[in-house]
Amino acid sequence: MQGFISEIFSSFQGEGGSVRGSCQGRRQIFIRFAGCNLAQAGKPCVWCDSPQAQAGGCPSANIETSAGRGVFKDAENPLEVDALLKVVEELRSPDLHSLSLTGGEPLLQAGFIEAFCLETVDQIYLETNGTLPKAAKKIADHVDYACVDLKDETALPYSGWQRVLESELETARILTDAGAAVFAKIVITQGTNVETIAGVAEKLAELGVPLAIQPVTTTDSAVKIGREKLFKLSEAAAQYLSADDITLSFQSHKQIGIL
Ligand code: SF4
Repeated sequence: MQGFISEIFSSFQGEGGSVRGSCQGRRQIFIRFAGCNLAQAGKPCVWCDSPQAQAGGCPSANIETSAGRGVFKDAENPLEVDALLKVVEELRSPDLHSLSLTGGEPLLQAGFIEAFCLETVDQIYLETNGTLPKAAKKIADHVDYACVDLKDETALPYSGWQRVLESELETARILTDAGAAVFAKIVITQGTNVETIAGVAEKLAELGVPLAIQPVTTTDSAVKIGREKLFKLSEAAAQYLSADDITLSFQSHKQIGIL
């Protein structure tokens, strides 16, 4: 079984805040899968921070040569499961918490992930756009932690947002039912509606899934949302979710200049 990988490196998980399921601050090996179904439709998310991983079938993967050093080499794609296991061993650090499967959209390569997970004993953290629930079902039993990225209306350059949201919630349900510690993350902008966050929180409360509210950042990592808006959105979520199940999330890895 082979998979197309964009990059692999060791770092700290920068997102997720303090809710159950979040691994913010944990040391992880990031396995960034190449290809994203939302981008392949020709309309990537407005705030995509991994444009290099949008295209599938890239000829080579960028692989860090030593944990946390930031020096990379190329490896030919696609990678065999054994080759990926070897890279994980080379990047293993004493404080390793979990392997972060991210993208792109990792669930586009669920068969490869399943084959890989059968061979590893490391904890698996899945970050997914949540729009491929059938693929989520295929690997759900192997997932320990999951971040399902809910798309706000202002993140998608097309209509049909409600349909996307329904599939994301279905994925959160599948992963939760399989026993993973799941949280939802939503990137918000100044244009995000209070009603949207309240509606999302209502659905998540039914599933028992907490919510991380993440303000969009510009390329220079500045947060472009007013204080008042942040408070309002968090309070809107609290109409349905307990305070334990609401957090702010920031891209803290960018603040300290790491990948
Ligand atoms: S789902 Fe993720 S990788 Fe795909 S376009 Fe959106 S932000 Fe980028």
